[in-house]
Amino acid sequence: MAEYPIDTTKDYVLVRRQEPERKSVVSFGDLSLGGNTVVVMAGPCSVESYDQIREISESVKKSGAHVLRGGAYKPATYPYRFMGHREEGLRMLAAARDVTGLPVVTEVMEPADVEVVAKYADVVQVGMRNMQNYRLLAALGSVGKPVLLKRGSWAKIDEWLGAAEYIAAAGNPNIILCERGIVSFEDHTRWTLSLSVVPRLKEVTHLPVIVDPSHGTGRRSLVPAMAKAAVAAGADGLMIEVHTDPDKSVSDAIQAIACDTFEVLMEELRAVAKAVGRSM
Ligand code: PEP
Ligand code: MN
Repeated sequence: MAEYPIDTTKDYVLVRRQEPERKSVVSFGDLSLGGNTVVVMAGPCSVESYDQIREISESVKKSGAHVLRGGAYKPATYPYRFMGHREEGLRMLAAARDVTGLPVVTEVMEPADVEVVAKYADVVQVGMRNMQNYRLLAALGSVGKPVLLKRGSWAKIDEWLGAAEYIAAAGNPNIILCERGIVSFEDHTRWTLSLSVVPRLKEVTHLPVIVDPSHGTGRRSLVPAMAKAAVAAGADGLMIEVHTDPDKSVSDAIQAIACDTFEVLMEELRAVAKAVGRSM
């Protein structure tokens, strides 16, 4: 008996894996996430300037990334830190997309910003802090773009799937789950990347699952190993923070990897993907 009553046949019906063969594929641009190809999203934590995001976009594209990430609306843990260039940041992302053709994933933090973020983004990200912001989740039901739903660092799988169900119930079935590390007693990493959720989620939901080893570890030296482990565990994609000058990143500098590290990692990831029967 569960500690509190969850009835997965009633509490999350739309995102639950009912027929064993059913797997959802989320498509945007020319990409399909949840199929055979492992989709890599890469870019800085924050969009800093037109030049910064274009340079990073060109570099990660050259290395084989499929999607550009970058935050324009930033959830800063402390109120005096950088909070993003907001709509101007969205325009910076769009300008980078015009140059490289990479689709863009970026975060939205409140219902009032959903319209403008969805206007520029190819995929709209819900950050860890907003996983249970039910008004935001409901607003994303009618957005017409896929939603990348990060796991709350405190959230159990059932709570995470409950949050996904809010988006699906509001009318948007195009949801990508993203494991990004959870709270634990361990303090050698910023969060604890919970890789066993990847095969477990495949048992309980048809939604695609990606992994963010950057926030999941909070240390750049650990990112490549955990990225490879995620693909080996069956992740449908990755989200990785990459910067042309990692130490100068305006946010999350200690977990950003350099462009040349990313290039080597992509080579290694292609080998891992191949070994587990995936393409990249
Ligand atoms: C991010 O992707 O930059 C971010 C803020 O992530 P999270 O919500 O997982 O902390
Ligand atoms: Mn970040």
